[in-house]
Amino acid sequence: MDMKALCMRCRDAKNKPTMQVMLDPKVTEKNNRYSAKGKCAKCGGNMFKFLSKEDAGKLKK
Ligand SMILES: [Zn+2]
Repeated sequence: MDMKALCMRCRDAKNKPTMQVMLDPKVTEKNNRYSAKGKCAKCGGNMFKFLSKEDAGKLKK
């Protein structure tokens, strides 16, 4: 499954962050909130995204 997140480095012509594919997402849980950390497939920058519990379950498989 392709994981996408906003990349703060990859900006469009209007200087807004764009959705990019996240490589090697690592799911973490904190205070019952799930998040994923990974790398942007385009620029290699760090990415971060909050996940629903359902999405986190899918990614852990
Ligand atoms: Zn990027």
